[in-house]
Amino acid sequence: MSQHLFYIFNNERLLIRQTNNSYTIYSGEECPDFVQCTSLHLFTEHEGTQCYVGSTTDEELPEGYQWIGLRESYHLLPSYLYQEAGKAAEIRYFDTHHRYCGLCGGAMAWHTPISKRCTECNDEIWPQLNTAIIVLVRRGEEALLVKAKNFRRNYYGLVAGFVETGESLEECVRREVREETGIEITNIRYFASQPWPYPMGLMVGFNADYVSGDIRLIDGELRDAAFFTRDNLPAIPEKLSMARMLIDNWVEGNA
Ligand SMILES: [Zn+2]
Repeated sequence: MSQHLFYIFNNERLLIRQTNNSYTIYSGEECPDFVQCTSLHLFTEHEGTQCYVGSTTDEELPEGYQWIGLRESYHLLPSYLYQEAGKAAEIRYFDTHHRYCGLCGGAMAWHTPISKRCTECNDEIWPQLNTAIIVLVRRGEEALLVKAKNFRRNYYGLVAGFVETGESLEECVRREVREETGIEITNIRYFASQPWPYPMGLMVGFNADYVSGDIRLIDGELRDAAFFTRDNLPAIPEKLSMARMLIDNWVEGNA
């Protein structure tokens, strides 16, 4: 019998297993028998391995297993398992938030591993990603860092925001920088993108150059914004984030 992967969540925490000094996802022929699983769903398959996502409310785990937040799992799991756990979390979020049809109110049921269909009117829906941009603005040897009011920790990150309907990524970058800081930018350059399963996002990173304007905290989202040099950096976000990837890239002189 082949071994399958089971991404089991208890609220927002993921079941992981420790073997020696490495961490992994539960694998077996069936859902782990030490927890009661609900909403088990096959969401992807690779090289003959089926990947399931499921939920439980059971807390008790045998030796070697633990519950861990998805963010924290980044530091423990191999990167491909962290990324797949993010996909599992997004599929689960999609499932729990789309139980009924938005058109007719009928019950929704899985139609493919990643889409649902209304059992009454057959309308089919797919998970909708919330696309957000994040940008490092360079001014000579300095970079624009900001402290958001809603950051849980006391660090500086980068200007970021959700793409609006009818807007290109570049227009969004320009608008967010202008709205949050009053600054005008140019030379917007794509950097990288990253799935951001908190709860259901795609983060798209850019570099850009300062053109004009003095920093003014306009729309009330920021507590502070300032230009910093490489040798005078404040506390910055953890490695997991696109913000940190952009800042590290700039610190290394590549931006
Ligand atoms: Zn319907």
